[in-house]
Amino acid sequence: MNFSKNEITDHVAQVARDFAIKNIHPHVMEWDEAQYFPKDVMHEMGKLGLMGIFVPEQYGGSGFGYFEYVAAIEEVAKVCGSIGLSLAAHNSLCTGHILYCGNEEQKNKYLPKLATGEWLGTWGLTEPNTGSDAGNLKTTATKEGNEWILNGTKCWITHGISAEVAVVIARTGEPRTSGNSTAFIVERGTTGFKAGKKENKLGMRASETSEMIFDQCRIPDANRIGEVGDGFRQALKILDGGRISIAALSLGIAKGAYEAALKYSQERYQFDQPISNFQGISFKLADMATEIAAAELLIMKAADLKNRGEKVTEAGAMAKYYASESAVKISNDAVQIFGGYGYTKDFPVEKYYRDSKLCTIGEGTSEIQKIVIAREQLK
Ligand SMILES: Cc1cc2nc3c(=O)[nH]c(=O)nc-3n(C[C@H](O)[C@H](O)[C@H](O)COP(=O)(O)OP(=O)(O)OC[C@H]3O[C@@H](n4cnc5c(N)ncnc54)[C@H](O)[C@@H]3O)c2cc1C
Repeated sequence: MNFSKNEITDHVAQVARDFAIKNIHPHVMEWDEAQYFPKDVMHEMGKLGLMGIFVPEQYGGSGFGYFEYVAAIEEVAKVCGSIGLSLAAHNSLCTGHILYCGNEEQKNKYLPKLATGEWLGTWGLTEPNTGSDAGNLKTTATKEGNEWILNGTKCWITHGISAEVAVVIARTGEPRTSGNSTAFIVERGTTGFKAGKKENKLGMRASETSEMIFDQCRIPDANRIGEVGDGFRQALKILDGGRISIAALSLGIAKGAYEAALKYSQERYQFDQPISNFQGISFKLADMATEIAAAELLIMKAADLKNRGEKVTEAGAMAKYYASESAVKISNDAVQIFGGYGYTKDFPVEKYYRDSKLCTIGEGTSEIQKIVIAREQLK
């Protein structure tokens, strides 16, 4: 394993950090309270190359690898988990699906717009009755001549309202049979495709989450990604890589919470001394630092495998499972270290706490990660 970061990774991290501090940090609580999704920020990140980090330069991307990708997400998430989540969903899911599974025509048509941030991407797998059991889709795609007709509702979709282009996985075969789903590209404005309800969430409130509704939505066969019946296999492949980005998102949130708690513990005096003098606090800080270091190693391992084109199913699941559960624990401890102040919106830790919880749910819950890891172990 080669985890050596180089100056390119450091440079990308610096660019993401500077942007987040200047353009996101001043608005974090305002956007959170209003559930405002700042789409213009996504466009601006596109101008910096952050919206197509691992897309090759020939398609308008930055041509970087996964070390640079996780570094960027981590830096943005340290400042705001919501924007980190949106960055991850855009890069890994919609853009990643077209890059890894699309044909040349599709890549040439969509990637330059997505990778530069001119267009925002979304990815629809989950449905009201089909979450963890993602093979049991109700949304259907029926072939008629040279077109497909989509019917059904997707839910919990990041950028379901604002994205210009969606990758949608729909059932094209009989229910509960293998190879029964196919992925399609649907552009915003296509007749029969509209956004539904926007969710009012606990955390990640500045990242837009909504339904996507398909009602007799006709799309050309040219928008089919790969073979008919290959949709579920493609989705699993995309999630394998996507989980590395949710692990990086978790790590950024955990580091943000830890750094705030570390500083506060040295500034807050009780019993005439900084609270960091109390072992009850310093041991929490020791646990937090250790878990952050462990999460970082798991993420680096998964990113390294991904860079080398090797299978990341287990490593991605381990990184996502550990980093997300740690982020919840670390941000919970950060609130505890802040005491009553931590429970208010005047200090940043309550938001890290709320945002962190999504990381144990999105792109496969912790229980699903354990199923994936156990399956790999028991092979
Ligand atoms: C903010 C947000 C953004 C999202 N963005 C997207 C997106 O862009 N695109 C998209 O397609 N989806 C998206 N999702 C959906 C997300 O991936 C699902 O919520 C997730 O996969 C879980 O599905 P579910 O919510 O239906 O829960 P369920 O599948 O109903 O699970 C409920 C509980 O049962 C447990 N469970 C289920 N099956 C098993 C089992 N076999 N063994 C043990 N426990 C089990 C789960 O772990 C969980 O604890 C998003 C979700 C959120 C909250």
